Amino acid sequence: MAPTTVRPWLRRYETISDFYLSTEVVICGYGGAGAAAALEARRAGADVLVLERASGGGGATQMSSCEMYLGGSGGTAIHKALGMEDTTENMLAYITECFGAHGDAEKIRTYVEGAAAHFDWAESLGVPYKREAIMDRTVVPFTDESLLFTGNERAHPFNKIATPIPRGHVPSKEGDEGGRIFMQALMRHVEEAGAIIQSDARVVGLLQDDEGRVRGVAAKIDGEERYIKATRGVILTAGGFVMNRQMIEKHAPHVIGLGEPYGNQWDLGDGIQMGIAAGANAINMNECFLSFAFYPPAKLTYGILVNGRGQRFINEDTYLARLGHYAGLQDNHEIYMLVQNEDFELSHYMERLRIAGTGDTIAEVEAEAGLPVGSLQATVTYYNEHAARGEDPLFQKESNWVKPIAKGPFALVSYCPQEVKYPLGENPGYLMFTLGGLETRVSGEVLTAQGDIIPGLYAAGRTTAGLPRTAKGYASGMSVGDATFFGRRAGQTVAAAEQHS
Ligand SMILES: Cc1cc2nc3c(=O)[nH]c(=O)nc-3n(C[C@H](O)[C@H](O)[C@H](O)COP(=O)(O)OP(=O)(O)OC[C@H]3O[C@@H](n4cnc5c(N)ncnc54)[C@H](O)[C@@H]3O)c2cc1C
Repeated sequence: MAPTTVRPWLRRYETISDFYLSTEVVICGYGGAGAAAALEARRAGADVLVLERASGGGGATQMSSCEMYLGGSGGTAIHKALGMEDTTENMLAYITECFGAHGDAEKIRTYVEGAAAHFDWAESLGVPYKREAIMDRTVVPFTDESLLFTGNERAHPFNKIATPIPRGHVPSKEGDEGGRIFMQALMRHVEEAGAIIQSDARVVGLLQDDEGRVRGVAAKIDGEERYIKATRGVILTAGGFVMNRQMIEKHAPHVIGLGEPYGNQWDLGDGIQMGIAAGANAINMNECFLSFAFYPPAKLTYGILVNGRGQRFINEDTYLARLGHYAGLQDNHEIYMLVQNEDFELSHYMERLRIAGTGDTIAEVEAEAGLPVGSLQATVTYYNEHAARGEDPLFQKESNWVKPIAKGPFALVSYCPQEVKYPLGENPGYLMFTLGGLETRVSGEVLTAQGDIIPGLYAAGRTTAGLPRTAKGYASGMSVGDATFFGRRAGQTVAAAEQHS
């Protein structure tokens, strides 16, 4: 007899008589969070089965640069080797400022206190890290350094709250292959530790008993729905929902037309939907990382960003996701950068950019671009008056990036999302992935809206609302750092959970 489907993504456990197999821990999704969870659960002695929808593991983590945001506790091994000191309080102050009221104080503290040791864990897998830093303003190093400034550390308001220190840690390599190097090393350890990996297996539902305990999963394997018992628990690590248009329309409609989905094709929100079906709370679902990558080249930071009213709206030396956040708030998403000839070089992050206006005077540029008469001229006059003293009283761009925009010819470059196209994306728009998901404790236990734990259910990575809460304060490395850090914790928690056979 077919088991009762209580609702999509949920089957009634008591109605299942025929189990395909039984194990202690079932992990749904073999990306960064899932592999980290599998390794720790296995190292703690639990039997682990990982189900992966694709034909192999890796997920978005494998596609990534694998930059991890790490520091605190006196610094990571790289900081120490380079004579840089970071403190837990300094990193705590920075990350707390990043997420403001969105932040989860317990998650932030737990992450910060364990971040330096998390670097040691990553390196212990055999991932190569070079004790060298790149201090330029960049997004990822295309050379082999392993440490860089990633986010807003040197920009207002963060530089007033915490001492800037680079915290982006990337595997040492030529090119942008960090994710592949990291995932290959991690998956090798998972498999050597004895976890069973079943690819081409899409988890399609949770098995929940009458008491509310999650007892296993339903998975599509070889075209058939099969039922797998998990005596200690199920960990959902199926990534975010950026590829699920319906979920984006429902939860984050403001990013439509602004963001181009950036991720793994199976970022369809399956894990989040399963969690919700079992009674979980999903939070922060409207928040998305939006990457407005105008740099490198770093010298474009000397320019000013303006909206369709010819007015500035941000300090230009801030991180690309913060720029994306504020760009999304401008009317009609109209965003332009004004640069003078000596700083002009089209960003190599964008494939094609439209020059909205050029001229030997700002008035000419303004007229060609069709901005309101006098608007850009007023902005530049005010900016230049203070820039002559290296100051930016309006947005407090750091003085090393402030100089008058006075030597023509000038160009106004369009960064309107409908006109930017990245080499990786097929459609125009700022690169985007989701940040919202299931509400969890630092242990990985999944919570209901009332704050109760759903027994037997755990989650990590972009299936959860983890450490990164909003693009406004996001820094490169916060997603892979969070997914692997809290994935490990979820694996440790479930391995120690009581068995229910
Ligand atoms: C090109 C690119 C570069 C990036 N660079 C960085 C970076 O440098 N630093 C950073 O912090 N972040 C970066 N990010 C974001 C980051 O990679 C992801 O947010 C993060 O890796 C997500 O990890 P995860 O474990 O939650 O999901 P994933 O690694 O995507 O793993 C989820 C897995 O679940 C599987 N799955 C989905 N549904 C099911 C199902 N129903 N059943 C079974 N399996 C399922 C998927 O196939 C996938 O393998 C980048 C993203 C991209 C796309």
